[in-house]
Amino acid sequence: MAETLTSCPEKALFALFGGTFDPIHYGHLRPVEVLARQVGLDRVTLLPNNVPPHRPQPKANPLQRLKMVELAIAGNPLFSIDNRELKHDSPSYTIETLETLRKEYGAAVPLAFIIGQDSLLTLHKWHRWQDLLGVCHLLVLARPGYSNEMETEELQQWLNNHRVDEPKKLKMQAHGMIYIADTPLSEISATDIRRRLHSGEACDDLLPPAVQRYIHSQGLYRE
Ligand code: ATP
Repeated sequence: MAETLTSCPEKALFALFGGTFDPIHYGHLRPVEVLARQVGLDRVTLLPNNVPPHRPQPKANPLQRLKMVELAIAGNPLFSIDNRELKHDSPSYTIETLETLRKEYGAAVPLAFIIGQDSLLTLHKWHRWQDLLGVCHLLVLARPGYSNEMETEELQQWLNNHRVDEPKKLKMQAHGMIYIADTPLSEISATDIRRRLHSGEACDDLLPPAVQRYIHSQGLYRE
């Protein structure tokens, strides 16, 4: 059972979806659209990351990644963008951004952070990962090729302790729960898209046409 941290009657659930988005693709967008219908998300805010210098750097610069996100969601009222992490030169940690957002939304508003199954499996390597559920819920998208089991018994226990199967519970509490969604499996990854573009292969059906056109106009991912 997930801990009861801040109880409140059913209300809107806001979700944030962080990523490098180098580039944003249908493997991000389509599962999230299904998740939004399953859970009843009122809005999904995309949060492009500023990647810490010690990690492999994105091929596209922050402005280009932001532009691709803008093009990908144009005309889709489910999505909005928060570009605060890209505005700073210093790397931002997810927990710190979420803590700031929590203050802005207020203590009682149900807030969720969306991650893919691959990210769930490595979550224990994130800065202050154990504080995440004190600030938000976690919504997990299915992703093919990744285990359904956590790496250790302790991590599995942590997951079991917080997991809820009924999405409506997510709106009754401000944070503290994990929902593993039954979203359609998508094999698409940005790594594969970059590899294809580098070798001149087509990427139709992998990302929105407007994003593809932008990639070509900027000469991205050719090197
Ligand atoms: P890369 O291949 O460069 O690592 P990526 O395709 O995994 O990139 P990110 O921007 O790193 O994309 O991902 C942002 C979030 O989206 C992560 O939590 C990741 O788990 C999730 N995600 C990415 N692709 C998929 C997919 N095909 N299905 C489900 N979740 C995904």
